[in-house]
Amino acid sequence: MKRIVPPHGGKLNPRLLAGDELRESYRKAETLPQVRMNSKEVSDLIMLAMGAFSPLDGFMTQEDYLGVVRDMEMKDGTLWPIPITLSISSEESQGLKEGQQVALVNDESGEIVGSMTIQEKYTYDRQAEALEVFRTDDSAHPGVERLQTQGEVYLGGLVVAFSEGKYPEVFPEFARPAETRKMFEERGWSTVAAFQTRNPMHRSHEYLTKIALEVSDGVFIHPIVGKLKPGDIPADVRMKCYRVMLENYFPKERIVLKVYPMEMRYGGPKEAILHAIIRQNFGCSHMIIGRDHAGVGKYYGAFDAQHIFDELKPGALHIEPLKLDWTFWCYKCGGMASLKTCPHEREDRCLISGTQLRKMLSAGEKPPAEFSRPEILDILIDYYKTRSQPE
Ligand SMILES: [Zn+2]
Repeated sequence: MKRIVPPHGGKLNPRLLAGDELRESYRKAETLPQVRMNSKEVSDLIMLAMGAFSPLDGFMTQEDYLGVVRDMEMKDGTLWPIPITLSISSEESQGLKEGQQVALVNDESGEIVGSMTIQEKYTYDRQAEALEVFRTDDSAHPGVERLQTQGEVYLGGLVVAFSEGKYPEVFPEFARPAETRKMFEERGWSTVAAFQTRNPMHRSHEYLTKIALEVSDGVFIHPIVGKLKPGDIPADVRMKCYRVMLENYFPKERIVLKVYPMEMRYGGPKEAILHAIIRQNFGCSHMIIGRDHAGVGKYYGAFDAQHIFDELKPGALHIEPLKLDWTFWCYKCGGMASLKTCPHEREDRCLISGTQLRKMLSAGEKPPAEFSRPEILDILIDYYKTRSQPE
């Protein structure tokens, strides 16, 4: 019998405590010095809590950090493309020493969300990290901007988490890797294709996932619901779109919709690798990588996020990319098509840019059904209506 892919690094490593262990550690953490975390760091801690960042067991120490930034490799040789770090200011760092235990606090809510044993504190080179990870040091890039405004010192070490924040409560589709693996197993799936998304699903996205579904046991639709950059459609609106799409246009028994709380880095190719590692942990054998995956602006070539998978060492990942091109409705083909399958001209295709789409929806105007399902457009028009009303 074919089996589900193994987790990255061989074993899931969830860091969430429960029961007596949780109560004791929490009580102890209330007495510890506090380190405040920004929203990205909190969501990374939750990813660690869930086991979604397996095999990581905490924030990276210097040797792992440098290996990841320079060669996408931790010191034991495990593939990892983007450093998972905890930053503090140099003033704060002066009061902390290696070997010490600290409480991890969500800076927005003031809540103690975990604790950490500081194994190392170290300074790092922001510009080098930006250039290696994002391939640019332009502060107009949202990932670079965040890097440039965070603390100058990293704390590395083992963490435990006390909660998964608001996510399990806010999203009925919240699920941990151990749970989706079990679901896939129960359904008898071994080939599962993941679809990462931070946008509402239009016909092109529907088509991508259906191409994947044609060649897999099932498809895992896995929207990111951590904080996004301004201008992106909020998670609750997108969730309505996904639910209505699945309800009306997908066979229920072959699709799983779940969410994860990470924040986008907008890191293009390197983020595509991170997305793949996470999906392998959730039990997926394949991952859809379309044009400009996880990109922003014009920082990455359209297919950089596909090519980077060809540069990995053999065996570094078990999950495989499904490399797909740009898709659209073609009036001459009379159906969905891609640049690989359609021989016609630009004007034969139903093409609407993101900017055009926002304009139409804000004006309450419905793009054609060949571009997006009417149920989805209704939700989006509603959203733009409430957004444009002054509070
Ligand atoms: Zn065509």
